[in-house]
Amino acid sequence: NGCNVFSTSSPDTLAEQRAKLARHLAIETELHEALVGGQLRLAYQPIVDIGSGALHGVEALIRWRKPDGSVVPPDVFIPIAEQSDLIIDIGRWVLGQALRDLASLQGGALAGLKIHVNMAASEFTSSALPEMLRAMSERLAVPPSQVVLELTESMLMRQPEQVKRVMHQLRDIGFEISLDDFGMGHSSLAMLKSLPISSLKIDRSFVRDLPSGERDRAIARTIVDLGHHLQLEVIAEGIESEAQLAELSACGCRFGQGWLLGRPLPLDGLVQAFPQGRR
Ligand code: C2E
Ligand code: MG
Ligand code: MG
Ligand code: MG
Repeated sequence: NGCNVFSTSSPDTLAEQRAKLARHLAIETELHEALVGGQLRLAYQPIVDIGSGALHGVEALIRWRKPDGSVVPPDVFIPIAEQSDLIIDIGRWVLGQALRDLASLQGGALAGLKIHVNMAASEFTSSALPEMLRAMSERLAVPPSQVVLELTESMLMRQPEQVKRVMHQLRDIGFEISLDDFGMGHSSLAMLKSLPISSLKIDRSFVRDLPSGERDRAIARTIVDLGHHLQLEVIAEGIESEAQLAELSACGCRFGQGWLLGRPLPLDGLVQAFPQGRR
């Protein structure tokens, strides 16, 4: 190696590149079958009000279990789907399922619950998204204000003007937008100021080493303050311990998500876990 100072690993040989391409194509084919064959599911992870313990919302997380019982994590198959049009079909399925689930909760203890849905970059650059979502929420009688679309900072970098236009259209209809994995990308403060978002999610990597690391504490506190000064809700991701929770609470962080507060559950499991509703 040595020729490319930016490459973190040695460049793939042609044989390795071929093998990777073949693997990706195989996953793509299987994923298409999974989508058509109904192998995809959504799990819902609670987002909790740290002070009161009340259920604030849930995040929909896609799950793929193959017929042989093996599970492929979204961190593996979403990036592959993003390399083709498959992500558009998957994204549409996710939105449809999440909104149908939301509609099924109306009238029950969890009526009014907000559902966060992860979006892929290519969904957010599509000018068809706002109208498609508006029609879908109207058809299912789900208020747009109960749907929170999550996007990451890196998604803003590719076509910032187009993404911003779509964001504003979605906000005008009434959908909410949340900035996911905050702190991992490179969105400027100027950009943050001008985005029509209502919340930001502190990336798990800043939560992991709390409360021991002096610097992590400073970063967590700074993100919370930044969010609040911009009138945004701040949600900390990946809370696994009481010590992390206590530290985030001391930093003034109002909302949290993580294994300590609740694992991702199928919809019926979620309903059973919160018989009192959102209180
Ligand atoms: P994300 O949006 O940042 O989601 C949070 C991830 O952290 C989820 O992983 C969740 O299961 C995991 N997590 C939650 N609490 C904890 C914790 O306390 N400790 C640890 N170690 N992890 C925790 P998951 O479900 O594997 O999803 C990974 C990523 O895949 C998501 O990151 C999101 O970027 C993407 N993804 C998931 N579902 C969808 C989807 O429907 N559409 C799209 N486009 N992307 C999705
Ligand atoms: Mg997310
Ligand atoms: Mg995240
Ligand atoms: Mg993530």
